[in-house]
Amino acid sequence: MAKNTLHCAFCGRSRDEVKILIAGQEGHICENCVEHAREIIDQELTAKEEKTKASFKLTVKKPVEIKRFLDEYVIGQDEAKKVLSVAVYNHYKRLQQKNQEANKEGDVEIEKSNIVMVGETGTGKTLLAKSIARLLNVPFAIVDATVFTEAGYVGEDVESILTRLLQVCNYDVNAAERGIVYIDEIDKIARKGDNPSITRDVSGEGVQQGMLKLLEGTDVLVPPQGGRKHPEQKLIKINTQNILFICGGAFDGIDKIIGRRVQSNTIGFNVDKELQENKQKNLLRYVNATDLKGFGLIPELLGRLPVVTHLDPLDAPTLRSILTTPKNALVKQYTRLFEMENIKLTIEDAVLDFMVNKAMEFKLGARGLRSIFESILTDAMYELPSSNTKQFHLTLEYAERKFDKSKFNLLKVA
Ligand code: ADP
Repeated sequence: MAKNTLHCAFCGRSRDEVKILIAGQEGHICENCVEHAREIIDQELTAKEEKTKASFKLTVKKPVEIKRFLDEYVIGQDEAKKVLSVAVYNHYKRLQQKNQEANKEGDVEIEKSNIVMVGETGTGKTLLAKSIARLLNVPFAIVDATVFTEAGYVGEDVESILTRLLQVCNYDVNAAERGIVYIDEIDKIARKGDNPSITRDVSGEGVQQGMLKLLEGTDVLVPPQGGRKHPEQKLIKINTQNILFICGGAFDGIDKIIGRRVQSNTIGFNVDKELQENKQKNLLRYVNATDLKGFGLIPELLGRLPVVTHLDPLDAPTLRSILTTPKNALVKQYTRLFEMENIKLTIEDAVLDFMVNKAMEFKLGARGLRSIFESILTDAMYELPSSNTKQFHLTLEYAERKFDKSKFNLLKVA
């Protein structure tokens, strides 16, 4: 009989020997084989997960290695590099601990140490953050604090900080939950003036309040496309407990706040004058949470940003070194650009000094070096590809001439 001839294509049992026989296009499968297949799938998936975890472990770099890597891209800023290296390393360790959580009930939980970097604009804060991103195998997003506003006002909701993170890992929530976020221009959401506001301050304090819950680690509902949340939108739930937040800002004028604190600490003592002068030179070195509070960050936010570090202002020798030393130094980049046209670019040392002096004179910092380079080389980059030139020697005389004709001279009048 046709009914009795049906059998499981995997184990061969006939219809009478099994409880259920599921029909496929070409054959059947019995409940025993489905069960067996399920076990195989589970085993395979667990093995795969273990493998991913193992490879994740392999990529953990020690703080010294992380710093060495940063040294290839960022000149100076040793303290900030050290602090970041340790924070990132501990971030990995915390993630590992999470992975092993099941085995170690009651173990000490390592809390994350979110960071604030204080340093003049153009001293390498974003560059440090970006360089770390190159090294890591966790999702990394850079966001700008100025676009966020308190709920109910025009601008993006703070939760969209996490949208960027989701976007960089293709909406893989698991991956996003162990990522790192760099929040730039955190100083721009400071409370204006140091008195707790009488009128509500739209741009500052409200945003800081909004950020609290992101930083401390809770479930946050994130709009998948960013912007403002609206009622019909489907939101994605992300737990921020393991997301490391690094904040950066120039905090213009904070040196005065630090200066007042440092000085008042020494009043009444027989103060070493030289020490005092040294202190005045780079006050940022002494920055701490009290100063950031004085600047207008609310204590609750500072409590969730326990690590405060600084970046030094860039002096002439550092700028000079930025031109030539980093892995993708400007001189290397322009040499490569010319090389692609089969032109050998050589640059007189005096030109490099000239560019550094101009960057200092116009207070443009490292960011200005590129524009200066560009203003000097634009004509050459315009003309040479259509010529038969095989060599271009950049002299001081040529550089001065091109620079004087550039838009930089408009700055001089100002
Ligand atoms: P900010 O501190 O304002 O975030 P950035 O990191 O964006 O400054 O720096 C602007 C540019 O200046 C960088 O892209 C880089 O080319 C250069 N730069 C700044 N600081 C350094 C540094 N310490 N070492 C190497 N390059 C630097």
